[in-house]
Amino acid sequence: MSDLRFKVVEKAFGKQPQAVETPAQRPAEMFASKVFDRDKMRHYLPQDIYCALVDVMDNGTPLDKSIADAVAAGMKQWATEQGVTHYTHWFQPLTGGTAEKHESFIEYGIGGDVVETFSGKVLVQQEPDASSFPNGGIRNTFEARGYTAWDASSPVFIIDDTLCIPTIFISYTGESLDYKAPLLRSLRALNNVALEVSRWFYPEAKRISTFLGIEQEYFLVDEDLCVARPDLLLTGRTLMGHEAAKNQQLDDHYFGHIPQRVVAFMKDLEQCALQLGIPLKTRHNEVAPGQFELAPIYEECNLAVDHNMILMSLMHNVASRHGFRVLLHEKPFKGVNGSGKHCNWSLGTDTGVLLFAPGKSEDENLRFLTFVVNTLMAVYRHNGLLKASIMNATNDHRLGANEAPPAIISAFLGSQLSGMLDALENSADDRLQQTKKKVGLRFDLPQIPEILIDNTDRNRTSPFAFTGNRFEFRAVGSEANCACAMIALNSAVAQQLKEFKQTVDALVEQGAPLRNAIVKTLKEYIQTSKPIRFEGNGYSDAWKQEALRRGLDCETSTPLIFDNYLTPETVKMFESVDVMTAKELEARNEVKWETYTKKIQIEARVLGDLATNHIIPVAKEYQSKLIDTVYKTMKIVAQEEAEVLAADNLRLIREISQHNAAIAENVKRMVEARKVANKITCEREKAIAYHDTVASCFEVIREHIDKLELIVDDRIWTLPKYRELLNI
Ligand code: ADP
Ligand code: MG
Repeated sequence: MSDLRFKVVEKAFGKQPQAVETPAQRPAEMFASKVFDRDKMRHYLPQDIYCALVDVMDNGTPLDKSIADAVAAGMKQWATEQGVTHYTHWFQPLTGGTAEKHESFIEYGIGGDVVETFSGKVLVQQEPDASSFPNGGIRNTFEARGYTAWDASSPVFIIDDTLCIPTIFISYTGESLDYKAPLLRSLRALNNVALEVSRWFYPEAKRISTFLGIEQEYFLVDEDLCVARPDLLLTGRTLMGHEAAKNQQLDDHYFGHIPQRVVAFMKDLEQCALQLGIPLKTRHNEVAPGQFELAPIYEECNLAVDHNMILMSLMHNVASRHGFRVLLHEKPFKGVNGSGKHCNWSLGTDTGVLLFAPGKSEDENLRFLTFVVNTLMAVYRHNGLLKASIMNATNDHRLGANEAPPAIISAFLGSQLSGMLDALENSADDRLQQTKKKVGLRFDLPQIPEILIDNTDRNRTSPFAFTGNRFEFRAVGSEANCACAMIALNSAVAQQLKEFKQTVDALVEQGAPLRNAIVKTLKEYIQTSKPIRFEGNGYSDAWKQEALRRGLDCETSTPLIFDNYLTPETVKMFESVDVMTAKELEARNEVKWETYTKKIQIEARVLGDLATNHIIPVAKEYQSKLIDTVYKTMKIVAQEEAEVLAADNLRLIREISQHNAAIAENVKRMVEARKVANKITCEREKAIAYHDTVASCFEVIREHIDKLELIVDDRIWTLPKYRELLNI
């Protein structure tokens, strides 16, 4: 082991778990202590202002600016009592991360003295100098105005000394420049139309909510080891590194005992999250060594997305207190599982009905099938778009690999629900098959209680799976702002439900009883959407062939997958539900292509640098030692004997030369390809060139480097190896 690497590894493996103070409060007591939630609103706001604000939050009543001053005053009082000195509009630009610019409460008072103020005006709206945020050409730098505006449906919260106000971010001309604005629009569209449809079954329903429960997978790597790997540091993934002899073959990490250093990190993170009102519930080891998962209890979709964004920042902060780096990249290590962000998505009424949950009566089951079948139709019609919504340069490495959802969107229903749909499709008399109750399973040991068997099975290989009372969109990437996927899904289902309602209404107008009209339409949908249903192994090659035959989107090149956002069907869909305009979609795609190019460009540079100034020099150093040995052997023994003695070394010397030459040649080819691609001005064409000619060089360079890692003396290899990075 090289001296440097040895020191880093020794330090990393010698670290003890950080002590985490046991908090004085129970989880439920500390929950939301740093959030201006309804309890605090009631306490700090005059009653009429409180009622007006709740009306905005619950019923989407437009925010009356006249109440903003009173709300701001209450917020400031509470925040000041918590030691807060600053405030910021907190938003989600198209970078995929979050943005904040802190302002102190201080102002000059009338007499020139310094006072602390916080007015309704700054609560409601800000104008950040927004020229440096991705905007896809919507806003030229000379007209750089952008506005952030308060999203009253997501409560303000405190991080450190700063009051954070969730906001949308739009351009001077009103186009959205973030993820929150279209997400809110998609929720408005979906909730409104779902309410109309659900009223057929529940006339008393007043409101529909879209729920989202996000399972977040991640890796933890020791910080010192991470810093010694420039590729991890700069790109979030290892661009090289031979698999460790033992990785996940034994399945011994999944749900295994959580290492003490990691438990300390998790406890610390959970406390911080609970205080911010994020209901973290689940923690466990994931499949790959060094990989873990957390999941909060599901929440209203907009809040769940905000909470996930806050959580990702928190994870980075808390990890550094524990000497870790969090890797949210979808595929940090070759040969072991990547990370996703499984989005559990459902709809519910204000009367407590989950619309994707099977019911006890025939009416309830018709409601259940109505929502399930319309979702299937939406996923079928927009499968290419849904894939585009989860695609980017990083998730590209995870999809289609042998342990992650394939790069083809299909839906898994499980045998029972599939059976119900088949039965309805083939029934002559429109009768619905009843869902089966959970059946009891008695185990043959008396001390074990009866186990209730779920009536849906599971399929880990499906990107979009029905799981009992919700759909799980599993293809979303671990690093992504999952609003992007939710915008596409909500909008597609909203459009579908809207068309469904129109069709059923028309049939009723022609005299059909409502129930018959619904069943007739569903039957047609079941037939039409059949190609999206797939219960088999999504990883298999046979499925790729089959999916192609069924006409599903099988494109694998990320820049080309983005084209799905600009097809006439997609533009029509987004416009029909008032979520995004063609101009906004075009701008977003510009950003997608540009970001793709830049990420590949950074990886190419890092790979080229590491190959040239880490790998080749180390390999040459070892090679020269071998040459030296061979030379000396030749000197001290006779020619014939020397040839035998030096044979192994000579073979290695040649192998190293071959690998070095191949690396140098391919790095050169990659640099040339980059130069050519850089001259292209069209973002789409440039991204395609980066995909086809630059990224395509990575694998071959890596292969030679990984071979060298096996050959070169461990004592001089400078980069921490997989076996060191992946074992905490
Ligand atoms: P898994 O067994 O797939 O890991 P869990 O039962 O742990 O699933 O739940 C995963 C996530 O799904 C959690 O965030 C949970 O709150 C959420 N969830 C459960 N029911 C629903 C629902 N009806 N709608 C949305 N999310 C849900
Ligand atoms: Mg899970």
